[in-house]
Amino acid sequence: MKYLRSLLPVVAVLFAAPSAAIGAPAGIDPSQINAIYPGVEKLYIDLHQNPELAFQEKRTAATLVARLKALGYQVTSGVGGTGIVAILKNGPGPVVMLRTELDALPIEEKTNLPFASKAKTKSDAGDTFVSHICGHDLHMAAWAGTAELMVKNRKLWHGTLMLVAQPAEEIISGASAMIRDGLFTRFPKPTYALGMHVDHALAAGVVSFHPRFFRAASTSLDVTVYGKVATARTRTALSIPS
Ligand SMILES: [Zn+2]
Repeated sequence: MKYLRSLLPVVAVLFAAPSAAIGAPAGIDPSQINAIYPGVEKLYIDLHQNPELAFQEKRTAATLVARLKALGYQVTSGVGGTGIVAILKNGPGPVVMLRTELDALPIEEKTNLPFASKAKTKSDAGDTFVSHICGHDLHMAAWAGTAELMVKNRKLWHGTLMLVAQPAEEIISGASAMIRDGLFTRFPKPTYALGMHVDHALAAGVVSFHPRFFRAASTSLDVTVYGKVATARTRTALSIPS
């Protein structure tokens, strides 16, 4: 049930967003969430076992596109590469955007979970294992579950729901690729934009909220250290000239 806890907050945030898309207070019966939960969990495991690297997320995107089309969303795929924009119009009101990422990381999963990723693919650095160790599989499952609940509860809200699936978050170029491809010109410009991320520092069942920008930028540094060679295991042998 731990993934269910991740789905609940998203729905709660959507219904509680300041004056956003709300025609009535939150009124989703938890039994509705329990009813869709097995399908959401199945999606999570499928995505977890089939991770794809940045800009290679073709299967991942196709899986989500099929799901959202079946729910009646107006779906555009291939935005900024493999990105998706799914719109659900539900009368006048604000535009609320909810984002998920699509990509996984070039790292081997060593959790020994029965559904652990064994996927391998080619990257610029050669053949590599791939896994969703950043949690984007969980984000996608919660995003798809939210999509389903918002359709089933459209009497409880009004406005436009804009679901965005962003490629290549890990290499910091998917968002700009989507914007260059018309994310905010070809589609409605959001009144509110919501993103979410799992966080191992929080206890299960705890949701933390941050207004405005949060972990919204990233950069990398190449550092060359001159000295005697050592590994992390033998780091006491490392000497760095002063
Ligand atoms: Zn992440």
